[in-house]
Amino acid sequence: MEAKEVRGELLAYARRSCKPFEKRLYLDISRLGECPRKLAWEMLYSGSPGEDIKLRLFVAQLMESNLVSRLVKLFGSTYVLPKPIYAMMGKLLGYTSGEFGKILVTIKSIPNDDALPDGRASNNHYWMTQALMHFGHYTRCIIIYESRASGRIRTYDITYSPSIGEECEKKAVLILDSVNEGQLPKCNCGRCKENGYIERER
Ligand SMILES: [Zn+2]
Repeated sequence: MEAKEVRGELLAYARRSCKPFEKRLYLDISRLGECPRKLAWEMLYSGSPGEDIKLRLFVAQLMESNLVSRLVKLFGSTYVLPKPIYAMMGKLLGYTSGEFGKILVTIKSIPNDDALPDGRASNNHYWMTQALMHFGHYTRCIIIYESRASGRIRTYDITYSPSIGEECEKKAVLILDSVNEGQLPKCNCGRCKENGYIERER
């Protein structure tokens, strides 16, 4: 056995094991806080993720599933395992990180303490929980952050807002209709053009 071979096997394992989101097949419920144009662009044009992204994703998913197994150990049957949420004829897809009774659980493994929110969940994650609660029919959510650099954990309670849920649903309809017509909806983040989310040949 040589060091190089061990490295190769470990990297190949990570590539095989990471589960990237199928962006061209589904609209990701957990990203409905983002710009509709960017999300439609990804459904129309994005390719499969590169090596670096797959490795980062693998480590994040590993830590999240490890946190799930800790919750199982600590809370037993009070905690229900993660499950997918489908909506809109199966075109919308999201995943819970579990449930406590009727309370949704979402887990975010983050690379370092700089990404730990202070005082409340970040805007994107707030929208993520609202969209998951809307389509999964929950009224409360507990979001758990864990920093991979320090092991620090932060948790927040979030209550469902019907008006934000409605906004998520409207945005999802807009995106799916646009994608059906092979078009991009209007940008509302102001950065799509500079980031290259423009119409192109398919
Ligand atoms: Zn935009």
